[in-house]
Amino acid sequence: MPTGSEVRLELSFESVQEGIWVSGTVNGTAIGECGRCLDEVRLEVAAPVQGLFEYPDSRNVGEDEESEDVFEFDGDSLDLENVVRDAVVTSLPFTPLCDPDCPGLCDQCGARLADDPDHAHEVLDPRWAALQSLTDEKES
Ligand SMILES: [Zn+2]
Ligand SMILES: [Zn+2]
Repeated sequence: MPTGSEVRLELSFESVQEGIWVSGTVNGTAIGECGRCLDEVRLEVAAPVQGLFEYPDSRNVGEDEESEDVFEFDGDSLDLENVVRDAVVTSLPFTPLCDPDCPGLCDQCGARLADDPDHAHEVLDPRWAALQSLTDEKES
């Protein structure tokens, strides 16, 4: 999930029987990490927003129709964070990349290959390789 994103909302609110229907657009900049080299990636986002904020009472028991666009409305304030986050997340690529050709990180030392394309390592002693995989397990 991008953090520190700034968003602008253009929303309209419509009172319906079950609650409040919200629709509009969200515009902003999502900040994420490149899926390969972990560099910061900024993406312009323009996503449609829609959701129904439903009064808890109006939920029909027995009708277990799970809709993604239905949120609970306590009758007081609209928690727009969820609906906006859903809209933004849906519009973002699954794995953002800083560049479509991003070479990623060295699987030995984690250096950015984009900065150092000729990067190479001596073949490691197998005992070190075993240690390396232990470290990887701890981190994941
Ligand atoms: Zn990258
Ligand atoms: Zn390396």
